[in-house]
Parts: sequence; structure tokens; C-alpha cells
Amino acid sequence: MTDSIFTRIMAKEIPADFVYEDDVVICIRDIAPKAPVHVLLIPRKPIQSLAHLSDEDSEIMAHMMMTIPKIAQQLGLKSGFRTIINTGPDGGQEVDHIHFHILGGRKFGFE
Ligand code: AMP
Repeated sequence: MTDSIFTRIMAKEIPADFVYEDDVVICIRDIAPKAPVHVLLIPRKPIQSLAHLSDEDSEIMAHMMMTIPKIAQQLGLKSGFRTIINTGPDGGQEVDHIHFHILGGRKFGFE
């Protein structure tokens, strides 16, 4: 797997607006936000997609799930938020480095 844009952001080769980071993940604001709040939670490990997980990634994925509500609270998303993972071409995945979208600040229907 070649370096994704997210790997280059983690290496600080490309600037991004960081809202959170720890040893396992980073969280940055999406460059093309689809909601008043739109951030991306990305593991430092360059896993290609949800379809490419291996058993050894379970701790990373659990950490991501546990981190999402903390970030939502930090961003003031008191009345809820939406999480999305796009997987593969049919899933609309543009960057081949697994990531959660966290969106909030407006109401969502089933789009
Ligand atoms: P996906 O289509 O699920 O792969 O989502 C990729 C997301 O990355 C899109 O919402 C893009 O707007 C976002 N994106 C692409 N390049 C950057 C960047 N340099 N900084 C922040 N977000 C980006």
C-alpha cells in the first residue's frame, strides 16, 4: 500500500487542522466539510479499508470507537452526531486509508 494523503498529514508533510491525536489515531477537520462539524478519525496504522482488517487490528478499531464520543463531546456535539465509514469504490471511499467521518451541527436523515 502506498502512502495515503493521511499518512503524509501524520508525517506533517501536508498541513491539516488537528482536533485530537494520540499514539493510535489522529483526528482532523475534513477539507470539504459536509456539515458545520466534519472531522475524520484516522488510525496511524495505514489499514486500507474496513474490508482489509485483520484480527490484529481489533484493538485499534476498539480504540477508535471509544474515542469517537470523546471527540464529539470535545466538539460540542451535545444533541448527537453521525459516523460514516465508506468502503471501496461502491462505498464511495476516496482515500485508501480507513477512517471514520464524524459529522454534526445539523440534523441528518437517512440519505
Ligand atoms: P472518503 O471518501 O470516505 O475516502 O473520504 C475522504 C475524505 O477526505 C473526504 O471527505 C475529503 O474531503 C477528505 N480529504 C481529502 N484530502 C484531505 C486533506 N488534505 N485534509 C482533510 N481532509 C481531506
